Amino acid sequence: MAGGLKLYNTLTRDKVDFEPIDPDNVRLYVCGPTVYDFAHIGNARPVIVFDVLYRLLRHVYGADKVTYVRNITDVDDKINARALRDFGGQIADGSMSLNEAIRAVTGPTESQFHADAASLGCLKPTHEPRATDNIAQMITIIQRLLDMGHAYVATGSEGHEVLFSTASMADYGMLSKRKLEDQQAGARVAVESHKMNPADFVLWKQSADTEPGWPAHFSFEGKAHPIYGRPGWHIECSAMSDRYLWEEIKDRLSPKAKAKPHQFDIHGGGLDLIFPHHENEIAQSCCAFDNDLMASVWMHNGFLQVEGRKMSKSEGNFVTINELLATETFGGRKWPGEVLRLAMLMTHYREPIDFSVKRLEEAERLLAKWPAGDAGETAPDASILEALSDDLNTVAAIQAVHALAQAANADPSKLSLFVASAALLGVAPKKAEVSDDLSAAVQALVDLRLEMLKAKNFAEADRIRDELGEKGIQLKDGKDKESGERVTTWEVKR
Ligand code: AMP
Ligand code: ZN
Repeated sequence: MAGGLKLYNTLTRDKVDFEPIDPDNVRLYVCGPTVYDFAHIGNARPVIVFDVLYRLLRHVYGADKVTYVRNITDVDDKINARALRDFGGQIADGSMSLNEAIRAVTGPTESQFHADAASLGCLKPTHEPRATDNIAQMITIIQRLLDMGHAYVATGSEGHEVLFSTASMADYGMLSKRKLEDQQAGARVAVESHKMNPADFVLWKQSADTEPGWPAHFSFEGKAHPIYGRPGWHIECSAMSDRYLWEEIKDRLSPKAKAKPHQFDIHGGGLDLIFPHHENEIAQSCCAFDNDLMASVWMHNGFLQVEGRKMSKSEGNFVTINELLATETFGGRKWPGEVLRLAMLMTHYREPIDFSVKRLEEAERLLAKWPAGDAGETAPDASILEALSDDLNTVAAIQAVHALAQAANADPSKLSLFVASAALLGVAPKKAEVSDDLSAAVQALVDLRLEMLKAKNFAEADRIRDELGEKGIQLKDGKDKESGERVTTWEVKR
């Protein structure tokens, strides 16, 4: 199987054969959420899509051979604004520090995100580092960029800044294919006259008292520049990917990987991140580590709309993962995580998705036909591996899994093959735990149906069987060996 995986690479704009630098250490980085508010269903798309990729890589290369890093962005002006909005009073009267207020915003939001991701059937990444735990690593990279002539210190309207010098990088724009000259032409030069080039971006900026900050001592052109401040948006991903995908594991990498220092295999995120975020991550990492590539393959998921329109609070179609799972906001009912996940995977990850009640109902109908069971030691079917190996063709994979479900419904000996295959999509129907109450209620209906059959009221007997079927309960009729009387057993199919 290894060697058969093809992935679309945004960097080269074509599908490429995926070959990890070190097959014993496959390395994946995905930009994670900014934890200022509950994650919306659009944010769920990269989480689910890259979870499928993670599962596939683990299957192909070995579960312990893949390192998956997804960061938590907990330094951001939106977080700061939320902390001041929600805890401004306590900060003003001294009962809470700014940092405590920020933790009070990011802590619960991060926990909620983890709960959402688990409900959507996503495995935990190997590392989920927070930006605030990696400030020292960011400062180190920024100093390298200053030392190597790729960054400079300047003073803007909000104080001192360290800026990346885009003109210092010959191939700046390699991912988005934007040329520096084009960016200069339309830029509002007057507003940001402290920049050497309008496309230059912030690596570090001075913080006011009402903003979070860390002490940093930069040196530039022989002079000390202490700037109490905070990182720009992009530097955190350069720092965290390098820490967890190179620095902390470099000793165990293959000679080939050691010969490509600081480079890793796959970087992912939504396509809105191509520019400026990923372009600037590439600029920082390639310049700081003197590399041609930061990651070999860049993958981007398409955008999600809700009921045909861009999701926005003013449109009233903004919906969080938690609202879908736990409230009746969308379509007047709650939706199981599995249904949300399957609905997301019913479209190829690079295409736009229209998220709608109709789509969720379709996913739910499909899931209802899939049996529950255990995979045991069974390996997934070749058909699903073939589909997913074609740039994560989840549409074909779902068809393949559905065919396996039908085969398993007809022949129980094929159940484990279906379950093992569905598990690659992260959809693993398990036999539901049946509560005593439910069990008693079902048994009462089963007994009633038997009475109806004895009374030859077949219409009512069928109605009861259908009613139970709709609840996922399947009846099996047989004969008692001794008495020859009809007996009915039942099981929960989902
Ligand atoms: P953010 O918290 O805004 O940085 O977004 C976290 C991740 O969600 C990024 O990979 C974004 O590209 C992705 N994302 C945000 N909105 C959408 C959307 N409507 N559809 C698909 N992906 C999205
Ligand atoms: Zn990032």
